[in-house]
Amino acid sequence: MNTFNRGLLRILALAVLCFSVSANASDISAEIHVDKNWLKASDDVLVAISLTNHGKKPARVLKWYTAANGIEDSLFSVNRDGHSLRYLGAHYKRPAAHPGNYLNLKAGETVTHIAELSAVYDFSKTGDYSIRFKVESLSLFNPGAEHRSTRSQFKMPSLISNELMVWVQGRETDWSSMDEREYDRGGNGNGGGGNGGGNGGGKPGGEDPPTGERISFTGRCSNGEKSTILTAIDEAIGISSDSQSYLNNNITGDRYTTWFGTVSSGRYHTVENNFTEINDAIINADITVDCKCKQNYYAYVYPSQPYKIYVCKAFWAAPMTGTDSKAGTLVHEMSHFDVVAGTDDVVYGQTGAKNLAISSPNDAIKNADSHEYFAENTPHQN
Ligand SMILES: [Zn+2]
Repeated sequence: MNTFNRGLLRILALAVLCFSVSANASDISAEIHVDKNWLKASDDVLVAISLTNHGKKPARVLKWYTAANGIEDSLFSVNRDGHSLRYLGAHYKRPAAHPGNYLNLKAGETVTHIAELSAVYDFSKTGDYSIRFKVESLSLFNPGAEHRSTRSQFKMPSLISNELMVWVQGRETDWSSMDEREYDRGGNGNGGGGNGGGNGGGKPGGEDPPTGERISFTGRCSNGEKSTILTAIDEAIGISSDSQSYLNNNITGDRYTTWFGTVSSGRYHTVENNFTEINDAIINADITVDCKCKQNYYAYVYPSQPYKIYVCKAFWAAPMTGTDSKAGTLVHEMSHFDVVAGTDDVVYGQTGAKNLAISSPNDAIKNADSHEYFAENTPHQN
């Protein structure tokens, strides 16, 4: 074979490689638009997100990362005068994605959802804001994708829109009542319907009075639920203490590498610090557990509001200990708080978390479920 042919072959091989690396990509594109590019303090910051399938075959996208049910995750990159704004909405622990969680788009189809950004980003300062829809997830386009993304240099599936500039007049926001506002938005599948401002039980006067104990309850927890929660906190103390002592002893066994990937001293140190904080908070913090959520999640928190944890349907159905347990869910949620470990939800479920450890250890040490599975340590590893 002459050099020219060999060179050609190499180019072909490279082309095939590029193709297989982008196998997680999709024909779906995202575009955002706003009705007007200046907004008074009394205007909501409404952004329309249009997702279009440019392919010749049907395609799907994980609903959590569209605004189909409102903003349920960090869906935007928002900047004011060069400063990026944090997402202040809820962080959920969800069961792993299944086909029913996807939005199906026919060939050529476009769907548009409207999102209100001022409920989850801080627009208190007047200025020019740049807004971009930006999501990435292993399971963004395919529920099975996380089972296959084990290559070390894979590209995280993502959707990134055009960027818009909007002038926004600063407005006051009462972040302490964020949860009530999110529920009042309606359309969340909340059992009671929740519209009309009442939200069934969500009223200041009806909250349980503070007990004076370290653990308090809101959202009408029953006595049975309260005692279950107290047991779950005891179990969470057990697994987080065990995690901390493992890391304090600098052990680098399969338990560590399964969930956090290749050992580097920097990453190991981060995980160790995270568990020191998680364990300290579970043992000592004044924790409030709220029982009003009726959605199919395990639980959720607002990272900027320690230490309030909202538990949902899947929490009550979960075992007390072991994989995706009540105790592990509490570790997961505790890890989200900014004052604790400030973790994100990069991927949900054991399979996804294992593959994340292989493909991207730097993301694994930021992923809440990875911390939960390390703490649950089921099946047991050393
Ligand atoms: Zn989470």
